[in-house]
Amino acid sequence: MTDTTRRDAASTPSRTEPEDDVMTMIDTEPAAAPDAAPEAIYRLEGVTRTYSQKGRVVKALAGVDLEIEAGDFVTIQGPTGGGKSTLLQLLGALDRPTTGAVHLGDLDIATANNRRLGRIRAHEIGFVFQGFNLIPTLTAHENVDMALEPLGLSKDERTARVTEALAHVGLDERGDHRPGELSGGQQQRVAIARAIVKRPRVLLADEPTGNLDESMRDEILSVLQRLNDEGLTLIVVTHDSAVARRARRRLRLDKGTVRDITR
Ligand code: ADP
Ligand code: MG
Repeated sequence: MTDTTRRDAASTPSRTEPEDDVMTMIDTEPAAAPDAAPEAIYRLEGVTRTYSQKGRVVKALAGVDLEIEAGDFVTIQGPTGGGKSTLLQLLGALDRPTTGAVHLGDLDIATANNRRLGRIRAHEIGFVFQGFNLIPTLTAHENVDMALEPLGLSKDERTARVTEALAHVGLDERGDHRPGELSGGQQQRVAIARAIVKRPRVLLADEPTGNLDESMRDEILSVLQRLNDEGLTLIVVTHDSAVARRARRRLRLDKGTVRDITR
């Protein structure tokens, strides 16, 4: 420690009641024990989402209470119309609940302002869709690079990150290919690279293997598995039981209600 920092530390207004502080430290010791509960990345309380369809009210989510742990691999299954995409959009800060709270860390998506939600989407949330949603006129490299636009990085840093993300999904040789020149599995891997290049806290995927045959599905599954092994939280909506078998936690969403079906 340098002289300056020591002086700074000494000059910071310090504890006025040292005895109280000692008590506090002793009191809080057990909470810091190593077997403390894993951190929740999401906490949903009483979440509903209703839509009006031609004068009729549709309850897409009918009261969801849910915690998701950081680092988990969660799948969400259930019938069409059950509310899966609606839930994923709330988790992705693309939408707000009609009632209830959607906490992502300290933030409540229900009440945060639009600018804040935009920043969260740009920095913290990676999204992968069934239809890949790549821009056909851009190369794989350019598609991935687009996700870095809001981050304010230097050109060199962007190039390095995009190259690394493409290598991470096994596409280091395909950066200059356009989507039309790639297989479905390769296109979805570009989409995953685009989602992870920002180094998000969570990856959300809505039927990521829905448009793929079995071998391409397996290639996507091993990429997802590896990302989760590295610590990325995954939340994957899927109809495919082969995908759900890889999950640590399986949820089922039917008529807007969530049930844990992990065995
Ligand atoms: P899933 O993804 O499980 O198939 P969704 O979340 O897409 O289910 O839909 C749940 C319910 O909400 C369905 O009845 C659907 O018709 C309705 N819904 C979803 N999005 C909208 C919307 N934008 N406008 C009106 N109704 C919607
Ligand atoms: Mg859906």
